Amino acid sequence: MNPGARLLILGKQGAGKGTQAVRLSRHYVVPHISTGDTFRQAVRSGSEFGQKAKQYLDVGELVPDELVIGMVRERLTRSDTSHRGFVLDGFPRTVPQAEALEDMLAPNGLHLAVDIEIDTGMVLARLASRRVCVDCGANYSVIDNPPRVPGLCDVCGGEVVQRDDDTEGAIRRRLELYDRETAPLIAWYAERQLLTRIDGLGTPDEVTERIVLEVDRRILRSAGG
Ligand code: AMP
Repeated sequence: MNPGARLLILGKQGAGKGTQAVRLSRHYVVPHISTGDTFRQAVRSGSEFGQKAKQYLDVGELVPDELVIGMVRERLTRSDTSHRGFVLDGFPRTVPQAEALEDMLAPNGLHLAVDIEIDTGMVLARLASRRVCVDCGANYSVIDNPPRVPGLCDVCGGEVVQRDDDTEGAIRRRLELYDRETAPLIAWYAERQLLTRIDGLGTPDEVTERIVLEVDRRILRSAGG
């Protein structure tokens, strides 16, 4: 039986994190945990938590660490993740979040942090064409990967829309914050021998294949194989 995996995906906005996280969660049969999707669902629900998150999401700011950490901690204590693992997408995004995650996962720890590398020049084009399912978070591109039925998700039938924060100003701010707050995590995970860097160019299948190769190698090694 597939033993599961404990993974997280790093990478700039538009690198293909969401697409790869969904594919990896199917491949390893583990939950896909996207903090961005969870916030967007909370915003849509109109809850107090959602209203608080909305003020950050709309302008591309990071939600404060304590809110995000509390949300992920709660999710990681559920039995599906504690038994089989997870693919974290969009978390951690700051060093304090990475430190909190390390504590949450002790004594097991991560198998691997996967950094999907992409040229900044590619990012804007990808974000402009990006569409996302409001229900399951599946990603599409109006250029090379549209849903089979326009506006409807292939996976769950949900509505496929452009994200409110895929605007020029919010994209610029998110990229700035990526460089300042999230890029240092690459060195942080490399120091802990937990990083693999993956070329994000190519078809989604090609990128998934590259990631799975590295993850399988790591899981085998950590199982003493
Ligand atoms: P994403 O879908 O991962 O691009 O996230 C969308 C937005 O949700 C971000 O621009 C932030 O406002 C918020 N967000 C998601 N994950 C985090 C996180 N780990 N820390 C802080 N804010 C986050």
